[in-house]
Amino acid sequence: MPVFLHDTMSREVRPLLLKPGRSTFGMYCCGPTVYGPAHIGNFRTFLLQDVLRRTLEVDGLTVKHVRNLTDVDDKTIRGAMAAKMTLTAFTRGWTDKFHADCAALGLLVPQVEPSAVAHIPQQVAMIKSLVDRGHAYVAKDGSVYFKVCSCADYGKLSRLDRTQSRTQATNSAGEANDADEYDRESAADFALWKSHKPEDGDNHWPSPWGEGRPGWHIECSAMSLQHLGATFDLHGGGVDLCFPHHENEIAQTECATGVKGFAAHWFHSAHLLVDGDKMSKSKGNLYTLDDLVAKGFTPMEVRYALISGHYRTSLNFTLHGVENARSALGKLERWTDRLLEVAGFTRAEFAAPAVQETQTAWGRFAPAWAILQEDLNIPGCLGQVFTVVGEQVEVTPAQARQDVVGLAKILHALGLTLFVVKAAVAIPPAVADLGARRWAAKQAKDFATADQLRKELTALGWAMLDRKDGYDLKPA
Ligand code: AMP
Ligand code: ZN
Repeated sequence: MPVFLHDTMSREVRPLLLKPGRSTFGMYCCGPTVYGPAHIGNFRTFLLQDVLRRTLEVDGLTVKHVRNLTDVDDKTIRGAMAAKMTLTAFTRGWTDKFHADCAALGLLVPQVEPSAVAHIPQQVAMIKSLVDRGHAYVAKDGSVYFKVCSCADYGKLSRLDRTQSRTQATNSAGEANDADEYDRESAADFALWKSHKPEDGDNHWPSPWGEGRPGWHIECSAMSLQHLGATFDLHGGGVDLCFPHHENEIAQTECATGVKGFAAHWFHSAHLLVDGDKMSKSKGNLYTLDDLVAKGFTPMEVRYALISGHYRTSLNFTLHGVENARSALGKLERWTDRLLEVAGFTRAEFAAPAVQETQTAWGRFAPAWAILQEDLNIPGCLGQVFTVVGEQVEVTPAQARQDVVGLAKILHALGLTLFVVKAAVAIPPAVADLGARRWAAKQAKDFATADQLRKELTALGWAMLDRKDGYDLKPA
């Protein structure tokens, strides 16, 4: 049975199948803007795309996963100029950080990770084709805009009401869209090429319309065309990208190539909230992976927490949720150890791909796989896994071996690795110093100072556990 998934364009749950004559399933996902560390909301979206890819692969499809890097836009240019760095050096640093976080979270590496800066000629060529075909116009300052009224079916993804002109000012998540800060003929039009402005510094490239840089939306049209062709199987992104970004991608590509049916399936994942609120730096509720690791959580626990809600529903992230993820993984590890013992497998054999790839068995995990195939229902799948874990039945070694194979495939699809050796949390020097001073005060029976130093440790988020002969420092 194929994997089924909701498609934003048709509003239907549809099977994901290989097109006749094609051997790979082409999947384009809008990637990170590399101007700072990605937050856990970004990672929820990338993780859900990763689970989709893994699930398709377990189902037997060969997937070509393309995820771009947005390394030129208003934010990256501002960031580089503020840091007094070249755009390349600035975005390279944040790209490296993104890759390190992806590896820690167990994300598979996309087959292609194209960068916008490395595809300027392709973007210019596409804009030229749009101008030649009458879908774009050149403004007095050399900027080029897409003429939305020239595209008869513009708005088909988000089902815009054509009688009401929608501006590009807000996105489909209701957020202000600051991607286009330039003048244009109609508020519905959007920038394809932005003429060079002094605030862009040295960041400009040649074009038939003068020096400038591409608008944001065109990069995904040019890079998907280059790496997957004019039509491909699936396009993914967070729900905020539906309008205007994806709507604009469809219009640009279909008008430039003259081929309808840009992406056959649209996969949008709902946003992550923190403690019921939209995440933002100003509210102090924005978490990166590093923030959570500093609190003592492992990346695998973070992964579990971020994928555990259904992709079509907003996920309310809480620290309590990551604690629940920790106990769920712990429970699963203890249960799996007993299962492996009955089956006569070692932990290393369990982790080996051969267990997953060479066998067709699902054992008691067949319902968990079936529910995952149904609209990528990850919470349903995890629920089925824990139903099996809770069963009070004796299994034979042969049955246990089938269960091991089934469980290994489910965990592979979800990208969850059991029995990861936990790295010791690094203790910041200031915390180590407070700990040493408090221990010395306690030894000297200066309890007032010891109490005061404990308060300072607590304020930094650390707990000090005293033993007879020493102490341990742990994130609180
Ligand atoms: P950006 O780095 O802003 O270009 O975003 C990268 C990806 O993260 C896009 O697919 C966004 O739709 C997605 N995204 C941004 N904010 C959130 C959030 N709070 N929850 C889930 N996904 C998000
Ligand atoms: Zn995109």
